[in-house]
Amino acid sequence: MPHPRFNPEKSHRAAVHPLRDGQNCNAEGGLFVPIVDTNRCKGRHECEEVCPYDVFYVRRMDDDDFAALSVRGKVNSLLHQRRTAYTPNADQCKGCGLCVVACPESAVRLVRSDSLVHH
Ligand code: SF4
Ligand code: SF4
Repeated sequence: MPHPRFNPEKSHRAAVHPLRDGQNCNAEGGLFVPIVDTNRCKGRHECEEVCPYDVFYVRRMDDDDFAALSVRGKVNSLLHQRRTAYTPNADQCKGCGLCVVACPESAVRLVRSDSLVHH
């Protein structure tokens, strides 16, 4: 069942993107996780709309996260009502790469979760 924020048209567009890595990837949930560069993110929802697994949730940034932004990141964030993408369901990520090519700000990258010291 697609989640309520899923946009099939955008997801399909991302699926055929020439720069997309991982189109054949169907990794175990949790092997890859998307990392959002919150200094770049403009809360544009594309990641949320293309991810088939409901990994992302765009909402107002928490105060601690806002305080950790660069000066430029803070300005960027304020211009976008402090909206940013969180990844509450990162353990469901299948490494398909749709979010990476869909993000207009190049703010999402995938990393292997076992390469993270902590998440
Ligand atoms: S990570 Fe990119 S696609 Fe996702 S909300 Fe931020 S700007 Fe939009
Ligand atoms: S790579 Fe992971 S987070 Fe990104 S769209 Fe695919 S399943 Fe969702």
